[in-house]
Amino acid sequence: MKIYADHAATTKMSDAAVNTLLCMSKEVWGNPSSLYEHGQKAKEVLEQAREDVASVINADPKEIYFTSGGSEADNQAILTAAEIGRKQGKKHIISSAFEHHAVLHTLEKLRREGFDITLLDVHENGIILPCEVEDAIRDDTCLVTIMYANNEIGTIQPIREIGAVCRRKKVLFHTDAVQAVAHIPVDVKADNIDMLSSSAHKFHGPKGTGFLYCKKGIQLSNLIEGGAQERGKRAGTENVPGIAAMATALKEMDGKKMPAAARLTKLRDRLIEGLQQIPHSALNGDAKHRLPGNVNFCFEGIEGESLLLLLDDKGIMASSGSACTSGSLDPSHVLLAIGRIHDVAHGSLRLTLGEENTEEEVEYIIKSVKEVVEYLRGFSPVWRELMSGEREFIL
Ligand SMILES: *Cc1c(COP(=O)(O)O)cnc(C)c1O
Repeated sequence: MKIYADHAATTKMSDAAVNTLLCMSKEVWGNPSSLYEHGQKAKEVLEQAREDVASVINADPKEIYFTSGGSEADNQAILTAAEIGRKQGKKHIISSAFEHHAVLHTLEKLRREGFDITLLDVHENGIILPCEVEDAIRDDTCLVTIMYANNEIGTIQPIREIGAVCRRKKVLFHTDAVQAVAHIPVDVKADNIDMLSSSAHKFHGPKGTGFLYCKKGIQLSNLIEGGAQERGKRAGTENVPGIAAMATALKEMDGKKMPAAARLTKLRDRLIEGLQQIPHSALNGDAKHRLPGNVNFCFEGIEGESLLLLLDDKGIMASSGSACTSGSLDPSHVLLAIGRIHDVAHGSLRLTLGEENTEEEVEYIIKSVKEVVEYLRGFSPVWRELMSGEREFIL
């Protein structure tokens, strides 16, 4: 049995998206900037994709800029706000401690350039309070950037309320919505969002494509200089087949997101219930305000890495911490941000379900995780100390 339970890392392209990618690569290979028919056909495909993407998040097509993915969109949004801030003498940015590294590392760069960065606490449940955003806003704040849903623990933030605070205080608001778009309802107008990042490979589209929504009237800064593509804001010949395939995947996923979410929520809650039976374990992040497919646990007395390897032997593909940090020995910055201590954060497991997963698979995962955790605890020195009372249980 092979079970893919790592949908927050990436997703398999849908058949429809693969079809679009192939078909466009074969038939619409012109350069959208060329004036002859081949080029104009590509231009049409590109603009149709822009309309489709815009309609899913309730934006105007002119507010959509295609990028190479979520990381690029995050960088461009944040550097844009910093540039606008610099011109107005405002060099304070508010974000949170559990953002994706595409956001955190960009903010770190700005800190070195003299910006003052406030990272808000995300509390034990992994949720930021709008009133705390409001309290942190100063006269020199040029940006609030808070993710829509966390990629590790799946917690969904009160984005609409945070957006409303920013509107009222006249501060730009960006959200990394990579884990949210196509999975839960996202509406840039109702949610008071000024800039939003999204990535196709998180919703069954191709890797290396994504988009940035930037509200009309905001002067976007370029990351890449060159030709006049994307209204002069993102140079380089457009990845037309990839962008068209992204639009296909997005429309398809968006069309079925409510029934898909209902089904995934049931599977998720069953998985949580099953894993909670393991002694000295704990769910990470709020149980209700979380992505339909996200389950993230800590198990005391074991190492997440060993857990992953043994689950892999049983055919289960999962994650511990995020893909970007695995390979390093540091525990997940997200788990530390919700107050897990190092030892406990090391024993974490993220299972993220998608539409291919079944009830049988969930039962098999529960059984396998139980077995593996028990096996690993059997020869864990930390577990022995916990059992003998030399060390105190935390979970
Ligand atoms: C995956 C992810 C990104 C990065 O997107 P890429 O398209 O891989 O660059 C950014 N933010 C979040 C929350 C993500 O899950």
